[in-house]
Amino acid sequence: MQEQTGIPSVDHILSTIPPKKRLAKGPVAVVECFQEIPCDPCYTSCTTGAILPFEDINQLPRIDWETCNGCGRCVGFCPGLAIFIVDDTYSENESLVKIPWEFSCLPEEGEEVAGLNREGREVARVRIKKVQPSPKKNRAHILWLVVPRELAFEVRSIALKQGKQVDRGRKICLKTQLSADVKTLR
Ligand code: SF4
Ligand code: SF4
Repeated sequence: MQEQTGIPSVDHILSTIPPKKRLAKGPVAVVECFQEIPCDPCYTSCTTGAILPFEDINQLPRIDWETCNGCGRCVGFCPGLAIFIVDDTYSENESLVKIPWEFSCLPEEGEEVAGLNREGREVARVRIKKVQPSPKKNRAHILWLVVPRELAFEVRSIALKQGKQVDRGRKICLKTQLSADVKTLR
């Protein structure tokens, strides 16, 4: 299914969800990488050894959830934007979900935006807790989202809201898009 639609199957998603006991201990990485490609920045960027050594560069990453401390370092390094951090202990009814964000237009901290599922459909209103800008050009920014707890394994992106902030964002995005188009044409 993923090959045709880019959307992982339910079985694939379920295989990435840490056990409840681990989720109760705090933030942890959720690795939604399902295609065998020659890639391992998740492994090389993890300083705790939670991403287990690859026997073959094409192998799918394996994570030791007990060793993972949820630091989020691997999120920005993953070129496939396939790693998320879920903190189910954030509050009684909400989880904190950290997602990679590759666009130059960034939301505002405190802003409420549409939370999208893996199909790009709005499933919740989510709050931007923090915008963690990328320290280097080749890494993704990281957005901290406060999401309804039951949707911590559902919300995987956002859409910026209509209005003033989006207008400003659009200008930045448009500029980026134009320069990308120009590069493509050359
Ligand atoms: S969140 Fe931190 S400890 Fe966990 S896998 Fe990623 S880099 Fe390693
Ligand atoms: S860095 Fe990301 S895309 Fe590459 S193998 Fe690791 S999880 Fe998959």
